[in-house]
Amino acid sequence: MSDKMLKFVNLGQQNPPKREVLERKENFNEIYKEFINEKAKEQSSRCSQCGVPFCQVHCPLSNNIPDWLKFTAEGRFKEAYELAQSTNNMPEVCGRICPQDRLCEGNCVIEQSGHGTVTIGSIEKFITENAWKNKWVEPIKIKLEKNLSVGIIGAGPAGLACAEQIRKQGYQVIIYDRYDRPGGLLIYGIPNFKLEKSVVERRTNLLKESGIKFIQNFEVGKDATLNELKEKHDAILIATGVYKAREIEIPGSNLGNIFPAMDFLTASNKKGLGDKVEQFDNGTLNAQGKNVIVIGGGDTAMDCVRTSVRQNAKSVKCLYRRDRENMPGSTREVSNAEEEGVEFVWLSSPKKFEGIDKVENILVDKIELGDPDESGRRKPIIQNNSEFKLNADIIIKALGFDPEDLPYLFKEKNLQVSKWGTIKADFDTMETNLPGVFAAGDIVRGASLVVWAIKDGRDAAISISKYLKILDEKNKKVA
Ligand SMILES: Cc1cc2nc3c(=O)[nH]c(=O)nc-3n(C[C@H](O)[C@H](O)[C@H](O)COP(=O)(O)OP(=O)(O)OC[C@H]3O[C@@H](n4cnc5c(N)ncnc54)[C@H](O)[C@@H]3O)c2cc1C
Ligand code: SF4
Repeated sequence: MSDKMLKFVNLGQQNPPKREVLERKENFNEIYKEFINEKAKEQSSRCSQCGVPFCQVHCPLSNNIPDWLKFTAEGRFKEAYELAQSTNNMPEVCGRICPQDRLCEGNCVIEQSGHGTVTIGSIEKFITENAWKNKWVEPIKIKLEKNLSVGIIGAGPAGLACAEQIRKQGYQVIIYDRYDRPGGLLIYGIPNFKLEKSVVERRTNLLKESGIKFIQNFEVGKDATLNELKEKHDAILIATGVYKAREIEIPGSNLGNIFPAMDFLTASNKKGLGDKVEQFDNGTLNAQGKNVIVIGGGDTAMDCVRTSVRQNAKSVKCLYRRDRENMPGSTREVSNAEEEGVEFVWLSSPKKFEGIDKVENILVDKIELGDPDESGRRKPIIQNNSEFKLNADIIIKALGFDPEDLPYLFKEKNLQVSKWGTIKADFDTMETNLPGVFAAGDIVRGASLVVWAIKDGRDAAISISKYLKILDEKNKKVA
């Protein structure tokens, strides 16, 4: 293992020794460096209040960033928190894991002028953590309970944001989820070193205290059909995310020790949450001491390589068929992985997995990039006779996710989906073609971001409450 990698072993969810965490703190600013009040004030005062808030325009939630920076700079932390939470149901989560370099911070005027962005994400996190510390974050108190109820399928950020907004108006909300814990990809996808699980659990506990009911281990399609849920509730939100892992169809794909990214990440996250995970404990889904190859170039691939480093892998390589400039993942994540000792094998495409029962090698073709394809990205072309071999004890496939076949699974063939299998919903109202059924998050957009899921959940809540008001009026007239 390289010196760089050695530094990071045992970090993250495996209760690292104190000395190594301190080493990491010195080297990285991302989630570990806590702001103290004076530092937050100082950083916030760097905002020039430019009057053209590109940061706000490029935040999917249109957060009023300049104003909460001003409040923070003046030490008015409670007002800063109230403003930050008025447009975002999980500011402490977005502050940690939004790809700020592509959103608010990347468009900060100070960044554009070459002086380094105001660190908006860290300040958003500080404001909200400070609010939790001071007990300003409180459960919803309902003045008037309403009888109408909303059933939400999926306890990821889209479902949770919608649930909170709806509950604030006094409606009954039940969230159904097939996992054993709420949080969706916040709990079982995104690793602990990017987003601590306690942060997610604190949020979902607050929603429980607010009167939102969670029914876990409940799979719609298996435990109830969509129609059965519709009969129980006055409106439904589908927020099931996208989970069908894309496959690589090459010889040797059926060999052992080749795993989808979510299997690897879920095992690691469950272990970090204190669960007994047999496949981790017996070494199957554990990178310790192994030569790991991750295939893919998105943020999921970055999470897999960085998790492998923390599990004390012998070596970690990331294979991607395009180059750094054409990678879909956040550049910040790639830099983090490189600093931790991950080797990127750019412009390379897997050709064959080799081994007896379990994978031992991977044959790879070199790629050159041709003209842009329909997506606008340069097309990968295999170079003749460019084949080379890499040694691998474990392969992790992180090639992206597609939606499951929901009309089939939910036994509702009339539910309209796009040619990609995502649910067709009106992007303003999040309404599907079925009356009273709304949809939000990745299942509408395809694999996206937490901040967009929250935005969709909030938009769906506005439409659902309009729908329920009309229903309520009708019910009163009939009565
Ligand atoms: C490894 C990984 C890392 C990521 N890192 C980042 C990041 O750093 N920053 C960022 O912004 N985004 C990141 N994302 C993307 C982000 O997590 C998603 O865009 C976001 O979670 C989508 O929210 P959602 O609520 O639509 O779906 P999800 O979070 O996927 O939640 C969907 C929920 O629905 C439940 N469900 C599904 N089907 C059923 C059913 N039939 N019955 C009952 N329940 C069901 C699931 O169990 C799940 O709990 C990452 C994604 C992955 C996979
Ligand atoms: S929600 Fe995300 S994009 Fe918006 S201000 Fe916060 S970190 Fe930036």
